[in-house]
Amino acid sequence: MDIKHLKNKYLKASHRCLNCDSDNIEGGSVNVDAGGAIQDIYCNDCGSSWSDLYKLDDVVNVHIETGGNSDGKAMVAEQR
Ligand SMILES: [Zn+2]
Repeated sequence: MDIKHLKNKYLKASHRCLNCDSDNIEGGSVNVDAGGAIQDIYCNDCGSSWSDLYKLDDVVNVHIETGGNSDGKAMVAEQR
């Protein structure tokens, strides 16, 4: 079985099972990590499973504070 071929096919039609082309697939909870997220996917028809991996693609709604800092560095809020 050519996993790479199956993966490429799935990436173009990710609503279908990468093994049997069934659309009867289920996604588990999404685990978000810094810079990306991963979601376990399971096919109810053939029993195959895999994980969708999401990577950070872009940054939007950027708001950078300048000023209020004597050395002129931007103030950026730290997460957590
Ligand atoms: Zn399947």
